[in-house]
Amino acid sequence: MSGGTRRPLGRKPARVAIVGAGPAGISAARELIKSGVAVTLFDKETASGGLKRYGYPSFRMPSSISEREAAQLAEQGVEFKGEAELGRTLQLADLERGYAAVLLATGAPVPSRLGIAGEDLPGVYDAPRYLYGSRTERPLPAGPRVLVVGGGDTAVDAATTALFLGADEALILVRRGEEGLAAQPHEIKYARDKGAAFRFWSVPTKIEPGATADGAAVMADGAAVMAAGTAGVPAGRTYGSLEVPGSLEVTIATTQLAGEPPVLAMTSQVSTERFDTVIVAIGQSRHLTFLQSLGLEVADDGTTNRPGVFVAGGTLYGSQRLAKAIIDGRRAAQQIAGYLDGPA
Ligand SMILES: Cc1cc2nc3c(=O)[nH]c(=O)nc-3n(C[C@H](O)[C@H](O)[C@H](O)COP(=O)(O)OP(=O)(O)OC[C@H]3O[C@@H](n4cnc5c(N)ncnc54)[C@H](O)[C@@H]3O)c2cc1C
Repeated sequence: MSGGTRRPLGRKPARVAIVGAGPAGISAARELIKSGVAVTLFDKETASGGLKRYGYPSFRMPSSISEREAAQLAEQGVEFKGEAELGRTLQLADLERGYAAVLLATGAPVPSRLGIAGEDLPGVYDAPRYLYGSRTERPLPAGPRVLVVGGGDTAVDAATTALFLGADEALILVRRGEEGLAAQPHEIKYARDKGAAFRFWSVPTKIEPGATADGAAVMADGAAVMAAGTAGVPAGRTYGSLEVPGSLEVTIATTQLAGEPPVLAMTSQVSTERFDTVIVAIGQSRHLTFLQSLGLEVADDGTTNRPGVFVAGGTLYGSQRLAKAIIDGRRAAQQIAGYLDGPA
């Protein structure tokens, strides 16, 4: 890869474009501006913050935190341009022409799929889409009985958000045991306190439309009112302001230990249960086809086949913890500073 090897034509103070104003892009911007580099931060959303602003539930990460962070960045001299989407309203070639270096920190937006039948039925969402919706004026309808699949912060956030928005029940299905939960202990406790339940060593194997999937909800006076006879929902009940698409039958396999020690065998108990909504929260990965569409080949160190174009954060390594994105943003800033200085 040649991203870090060629000396750019310009001299300091150089201008650097950062695409993606999430934790990785912001930490790179902070680091670069401190070293006297002019930074423009682009994002497809109207405001900066990335998942912290558009992914985490607002009760956990209020917008005011991202607003404060945005104000600090502006004070430091970082220019922010929102509603600028790379590949659509913003082109890589234009950035390469206008800036001495370009950093792509567009996150890991591709939700992992379960790979089971029924995953595309109405009422089945991927967690980032559901959580994104919850931070807008038009949250996606979820409930009254919600099944969340996954064991990380995203799964727990999806369950608490559904309960917060009015669901009666949220069951989190975890394919490992309790010790295998990746979510933070205080988030798990918060979810339990809010009424979420966990079922361990369990996976969904099939999702089918429930008996009442057609026309289960009707709209009345702007509010959603469940039609009489909808399974699990009392007739005429107002369920927040959300219209629930229907009901789903989910087949769940739960692994159990059977027999008497020392002869134990693993068995699987299979049950079919009814839910209104299924939220899939089993991770996100890098948008490889997006990077390919930009003509980019990315090396493990964040350099690319295009001189002066670098990659950081979730775009480089997929979904990980916040701290890793922040540290990687700093790493990328140092890499770019070295590139701007040219070979020793
Ligand atoms: C629901 C949820 C809860 C989480 N909770 C925790 C937690 O409690 N603790 C923890 O450590 N980690 C947590 N994480 C993980 C953490 O948030 C991520 O690791 C971190 O946000 C990654 O930062 P990033 O900057 O790489 O990407 P992102 O935060 O995804 O930011 C990427 C930015 O790029 C923008 N973008 C994308 N495509 C384009 C484009 N084409 N053009 C322009 N802009 C674009 C996006 O709008 C976004 O602003 C959580 C993740 C989720 C989804």
